[in-house]
Amino acid sequence: MFAQRLAQVSVSATLKVAAEADRLRRAGYNVVDFSAGEPDFPTPAHVKEAGKAAIDADFTRYTVAPGIPDLRQAICARYRQDYGVDITPAEVLVTVGGKQALFNAALALFDPGDEVITHAPYWPTIPEQVKLMGATPVIVPTRSEDGFTVHGEAILAALTARTKAVILNSPCNPTGALIDEGTVATIADAAAARGVWVIADLCYERLIYDPVAHNLPKVLFDRHRERTVLAGSASKAYAMTGWRCGWTVAPKELTAAFNVIQGQSTSNITSITQKAALAALTGPQAAVTEMLDEYRRRRDNIHAWLTAHPGIRCVRPSGAFYLFPDVSGLLSPGGLRTSAEFAQALLEKEHVVVTPGEAFDAPGYIRISYATSMEQLREGANRILRFAESLRPKAHALHSATP
Ligand code: PMP
Repeated sequence: MFAQRLAQVSVSATLKVAAEADRLRRAGYNVVDFSAGEPDFPTPAHVKEAGKAAIDADFTRYTVAPGIPDLRQAICARYRQDYGVDITPAEVLVTVGGKQALFNAALALFDPGDEVITHAPYWPTIPEQVKLMGATPVIVPTRSEDGFTVHGEAILAALTARTKAVILNSPCNPTGALIDEGTVATIADAAAARGVWVIADLCYERLIYDPVAHNLPKVLFDRHRERTVLAGSASKAYAMTGWRCGWTVAPKELTAAFNVIQGQSTSNITSITQKAALAALTGPQAAVTEMLDEYRRRRDNIHAWLTAHPGIRCVRPSGAFYLFPDVSGLLSPGGLRTSAEFAQALLEKEHVVVTPGEAFDAPGYIRISYATSMEQLREGANRILRFAESLRPKAHALHSATP
């Protein structure tokens, strides 16, 4: 009955967890929710004011589809200031969040039969968009043992004559891992030699905790500018998820193609949001730093609290606001067998909502968003520790009984 392309695509696995959590909340339980994929902070005051002023000034009509010139200029200025790269407004298109930025890229570049390489654990939208285009995602796994590092050689080994693009996500949702500049350089060189596109999802680019070299725009532009797409977003950096503002930075010709796609689908993003995003990008950046400092405190605490338990192993994330602990030590054939069962039981017994690793192609893990208050983190950590403790003897007994 529906179009063929839908047959390949899965519904977000997080929806099931969210629905169950909602049911418990409505039944009156005190639910601790670690599933949020968005900042818990309000949008900075000066950004809200710019949105209100846009309404009062009747800036409420269609704008040009790729975004108002001021905003595209502001995006160029940000990249110049933050990364030392020179881009022109003709290379920038404003989108309904980073999600539409990636979607435009997928629609403009991927054909049925194409292969698109990305790394797992991944944000599910990345491979699902590839599948929506009829193309095939090729998944290169990363491992918690080496901090979910993306290895250049592993990506190169996945390249075939059918490879159309490599999609990189750094900082990564759900692992919080960064891809280092050297690796991106290796990938960019190989991609340049083969005419393969590199799409970098940098939606968490402003949420990096330690001073590390992570100038991926420059690394990519220096080597492979003619086939690089950057996807950016105001959502996470400025706590603006509901406003829906992202962008692409891509070669002029491709940006023109994005403009055709967008012009025939959504047209411009909300005019009011464009004024708010302009204020976010050009105004004081102190709010970004303040939120980052608070996320860092939360990360350090929740990481320390949870890893105190011997059954929970966890890489300390370098960016974004997710912890991705390995709970496989708490699973057992006679008890909870999978991280999906773990998440479900944790919800039922302790009313803590986490996203099972299965959602990110990473069974054995759970994702904990620390974009929530310190009190909630402490309470949730206590409950998880109590839950882990209740499982340990069972898992342990079974493991030792196995020869
Ligand atoms: N990329 C990644 C890795 C994400 O996690 C998200 C949001 N969850 C996005 C892109 C897109 O976010 P938005 O559309 O709000 O910019």
